[in-house]
This record gives sequence, structure tokens and C-alpha cells, in this order.
Amino acid sequence: MSNSADSQTVLAACPHDCPDTCSMLVTVENGRAVSVRGNPDHPFTRGGLCVKVNNYQDRTYSPDRILHPLRRTGAKGSGSFERIPWDEALGEIKKRWTAIIDEHGPQAILPYSYLGTEGILNGLNVGDAFFNKLGATISERTFCDAGAVTAFVMTCGPTAAVDPESFKHSRYIILWACNTISTNLHHWPFIAEAQANGAKVVVIDPVASRTAKKADWHIAIRPGTDAALALGMMNVIIAEGLVDEDYVANYTVGYDELKARAAEFPPEKVAEITGIPAEDIVTLAREYATTQPSVIRMGVAIERHAGGGQTVRALACLPALVGAWRHVGGGILHMPIWAFPVDWGALMRPDWIKEGTPVINQWRLGAALTGEEKLATPIKALMVYNANPVVVVPDQARTIEGLEREDLFTVVSEQFMTDTARYADIVLPATTQLEQLDVMFSWGHLYLTFNEPAIAPLGESVPNTELFRRLANAMGFNDEYWARSDEQMAKESLDWSNPVLAGISMEGLREKGYARLAVGSPDDFCPHKEGNFPTPSGKCEFKASMAEGGNIVLPLFRQGSNEFQPGDPIDPVPNYIPPTESPATNPALAAKYPLNLLSPKSHAFLNSSYGNLQAQLHHAQGQQVIIHPEDARSRGLNEGAMARVFNDRGSFQAVVKISDDVRPGVAVAPLGYWASRSGGSTVNAVNPTRYADFGHAPTFSDNLVEVAAS
Ligand code: SF4
Repeated sequence: MSNSADSQTVLAACPHDCPDTCSMLVTVENGRAVSVRGNPDHPFTRGGLCVKVNNYQDRTYSPDRILHPLRRTGAKGSGSFERIPWDEALGEIKKRWTAIIDEHGPQAILPYSYLGTEGILNGLNVGDAFFNKLGATISERTFCDAGAVTAFVMTCGPTAAVDPESFKHSRYIILWACNTISTNLHHWPFIAEAQANGAKVVVIDPVASRTAKKADWHIAIRPGTDAALALGMMNVIIAEGLVDEDYVANYTVGYDELKARAAEFPPEKVAEITGIPAEDIVTLAREYATTQPSVIRMGVAIERHAGGGQTVRALACLPALVGAWRHVGGGILHMPIWAFPVDWGALMRPDWIKEGTPVINQWRLGAALTGEEKLATPIKALMVYNANPVVVVPDQARTIEGLEREDLFTVVSEQFMTDTARYADIVLPATTQLEQLDVMFSWGHLYLTFNEPAIAPLGESVPNTELFRRLANAMGFNDEYWARSDEQMAKESLDWSNPVLAGISMEGLREKGYARLAVGSPDDFCPHKEGNFPTPSGKCEFKASMAEGGNIVLPLFRQGSNEFQPGDPIDPVPNYIPPTESPATNPALAAKYPLNLLSPKSHAFLNSSYGNLQAQLHHAQGQQVIIHPEDARSRGLNEGAMARVFNDRGSFQAVVKISDDVRPGVAVAPLGYWASRSGGSTVNAVNPTRYADFGHAPTFSDNLVEVAAS
């Protein structure tokens, strides 16, 4: 796309870990990117970008960008660095890593990365081949959706399930633990269109979110009790004869077992567990079953408590029970990521992993670095890229304590001097999305998107692909893998024999900026009308055969992940597992810490990105803790006062906001602020590191705290 000699429009893509994966147009004048906007032609982006990204050029040209390699000159955490040449940085990294490998073995080196950039080339897996070749300890990535993915695949198989654009055909829409308007903004117009055409929109969320306020019905559930509600709905659906008997008989397995389980959850009992009146549970079940097409959109927060996996199992059984899959716009939407034929193996080279390589889960980072986690080979070197663990990992104080270790050699590749980069020995400069080439899959729609570099890399910054080429060269790796250009890697990252790429070429994708996968149109996409679930039985599995020792086929991209171990004692039929920290399960703890803290994504930040940039900080309005008026009154807390949020794990400071948007007994403190700008700690100072039931998923929301004036 080009307009004139000194002004161009470049086709780009938002790089963030967000389901919308927006197609962006970048205006470049005289070699400088002057603005970004949403691509009006893209059917999902529809011309708009969110408040996080609509000034992305300011991120790229921020005076705070790291544009050259740096070496630490002050104490760890002080932020004192000096500029050094790339050669010197690479030489020092090679020297230190080689010495560590000679003395302790390569497993003493730990990589740490996540989705600071989501592109297929520069994102989650960009360093895996390098660290697999090196023989480093594997960093297990289960931050988001590892439990939900496991549960969903156990039930429905790896299927795109429902096209989010098909929601315009839905007549009953349940947004379950999903604040669409803040975290999946571009899905909202399809929901609003259905609503305008008479569909009922129901939001199930402990918080009256922006989305809940636009819904026809907000059901304020007690945190972590969603599985009980789903089982209660099944109880009513079965008792009142609202089951689609034909669909169940032909396309499901395990109905008798599910029926027996649902019988344990009558509405009155579910009302006690969830805090939702029994008559509302009955109404919800009846309306959901009888208003077709009905559809459920699950948010990522659904898995963040002790029973998160079983919760997703329960929700994923509902559409088959009522035959919602028969209709376009009916079923359940989790992640259409399964539709994208990315050749993860070609990117990650799991064949280079040496047998017996240890695995450390990402939120055990503090424990691993401080020696609390007993490791055969202690970690002596850490390399962080695409991530800011000080902000996102629970047990924040321990993470910082580990990073302060003088004998830990830490390398961080970053765009900015983050809370984590401050502890690095060597900082390497990373490009932003405007300076790199990438291809984006999506976990929120069915389009591939191409990101053309709009400008040359600023300073000496490099894309992650180039970073690992340089590191591979420094370490003497001469495999063909690192001889490939980004264009070649892009082409080889997709399985072109897959029918969903029929009619799509890399050249065409690049020319248009996006391409819809060849899965049919949103007006006829109905993959499970007649079953065809990609599970071992080919049916929707109410009773999961994988829980009884079958093999589960999961994507490679969570390298090292232990989503499902055959033989683990997993209940094969959906069940309700109460939160670990709740008045019902731990009254003694609840007496000390009575408030259930939720730390959702902020409207203005994208995880830890933007916690340093003025426009987004302005939108975010500072670290708040939102509590119900009754809870504020009983603690003598006033609106706008500073408060301390704490439990036995730690504490952080926040400004009190009093609102009946939250249930009594619940506190909300959005994630994304940086500790270095917030008095040294943030919400992850109090969040737990326990795993949920499936997939080593997080339990951020299974968390009791107290709030007191400070
Ligand atoms: S963060 Fe999400 S909504 Fe915002 S521009 Fe990026 S993809 Fe779009």
C-alpha cells in the first residue's frame, strides 16, 4: 500500500496478547511512522484500535526506548547502565554462559519468555530452538489458558468451535467471565448486532464490568463457583426435559454419568454455593436451553482458581446437552487458535531437546532462583525476553529476591527499562512491531494477519529473530535454522498443505494484509452440526476418555507443559472443586483475610505492557482497589484514601474506590502497574503460586486478602 513518494501507508498488525489481533494501517512520512489506525477493510478490526494501541507510534519513538546494548554499572535493581557495542555484549554473554556450562552444565541456564509480542516469528516460541540446542532448562509456560485448553480439548477436541463473527446469528449469548468491551473489544459489535436483533446478552461475572453494564442481565456470581452454576443449569435442563435427546444420543458420550453428576447440584444447593438466587438459576437454564442458537463465550479468567479445569469441562458440556451446536452462532467459543495451521515444530525444534531436561514452571521463578525449589542443577543464568516477570509472576518479593542474587547472570532483551530489566547484567535492545516483520495467528478470530515493517529498526534494536541468530552465531551454532531470513521463516512457519490455507499465498497475504482461513463464511460456519468433534470418540465427551489414560493432542507452543499426564487422578466427569481460599473451605483464613481479590486485566494496559507510558497510565487512573460500600464502611475506608492490600504472601498499596460494581466480600485490583512506580510491589505480591486442577493453570483469583487504611 503506498500513496506518494514521501507518505506511505503500511499494512501492519497489533503485536499484543489479545484475541482481537487487529490489522493496523501505519502512516509513514519521510521515513517516520506518524500514526496508526485500525484497518477499515478488515472484517473484525473494522477500522478501530483500542486505547492501548491507538498511539503505538509513541511507544516506538518513546524517549525511554532502549536502543543500544547496555551493561549494568550499579547495584542490581538500581537501573544504572552504560552503553556497550553489540559485539561486546555478545562476547560477554558467550563468556559467562560458556563458563556456567563448563562448571554446571547447560541446565544451569533458564530462559523466561511469554507473549510480550504474539507474532508467530517473534513471539512465544522465538527462542525455543536456541535454548533447546543449548540444552537449557525448559521454562514451562502455563500463564494463560493451559488449564482451559486442556479441559476444552478433553471435551470438544482441538476445534475452532464457533466463529466469533457468527455471534450476530445468536439469540442467547452468555459472556462467562469475559469483559468483552475491555479485553476483546472488536467482538462486541457482533454481540451488539445480535442484541439489537433481539438476542439476550447475559454476563456472568462477580464484577459489574463495562460489558456487564451493556448486558440485558448481569449475574454477579461468587468467584470460583462457576462450575457449580453450570452443573445447576444442567440439573434444571435435565429435570425439565429440555435436553436435545437426539443430539445427545448421536454425538455425545457419557450422558448417564453427567446426568448423575448434575443430580448432585439442585438449584437450592447451587444458590448457596454461588450466591445466585435459585429462581435465577432456573430461569437462566430454561432460557439458555430453549432460546436457540445459544452461545457461550468463555473469558480467560474462568480457569483462575482451584477447580478451573473442571469448570471449563462443565461449561463445554452445556451446548451439546441442548443441541446448540446444530445452529450457526450456537455452541461455545474458547479459542479459534486451533484453526491456524502453524508448524510449531519447525519453529521450536523439540527434536533438539535432550532427554531428561528439567522443566521449571514460570510462576515458580522466584522459588527456582532463591533455592526454595530444589533443583538438581541450580540456576546460574537467566535470559528474559518478551516478558516482565517481576510484574506478572506471583510471589513478587521472592522473584525480586532471586533477581538480586549477585551470582546470577541475567540477560534481558527489552524495549524499555522494565522492573525486570533493572536487574539485568546485560540489556539488549528489542524492536517494536513497527520495526519487524511478522505473521500473526489469532486466538479471537479466523484471519491470518501480516505485519510489514513500517520503518527500519531504531538505534541498534533488533527483532527477536535476529537476536537469536546473533546468539546462535556467538555460541557457534551453524544449523541451517539460523541461516533463514524472516521471509523464509514466515513461509516455513505454516503448513501450506492444510485445506484452511486453500487459496491463500504468502504473497497475497502480504499484499492485502490479512486473509480469512478457508473455513466457510460466518453465515454458514457450523462445524459440529452433526458431531464431528476431534476427540478420541469423535463425539463431545461428557465423560472424558482422556482422563482415563488416553493421549491428548495439545499444541507444542507451551513447550515443557504438563497439561495432562495419563494416569493423573482426574475426575472424568465435570465436577465442582471449591476455591482453596474461601470462607466455605478455609474459615480460619477467611477470618483473617475476608476479601476475595481479583486482579483482572486493565482496560488500558496489556498485561505488563504500557505500565510506563503516559497516555495509558492516564487512562488506567492509578492502582486502585475497588470494594463494595459495606466492606468500605466496616473498615472505615473512604473513597480516594490510600490503602494497604495484604495477606501472608505480601502487600501492595492502592487507592480505594468504593463501588457496588463488586459483590460484598470481593475486592478488585487491576493488573499491569509496575512495581518500580508503585512503591515496590503490585498485585502479584499477594497472588498465590498454586496450580489449578488442570494444566498447571494459575489460581490468581483464588486469593484472600484484607484491605486496611495505610
Ligand atoms: S490490544 Fe487488542 S484490541 Fe487493542 S489494538 Fe491490539 S489487538 Fe486490537
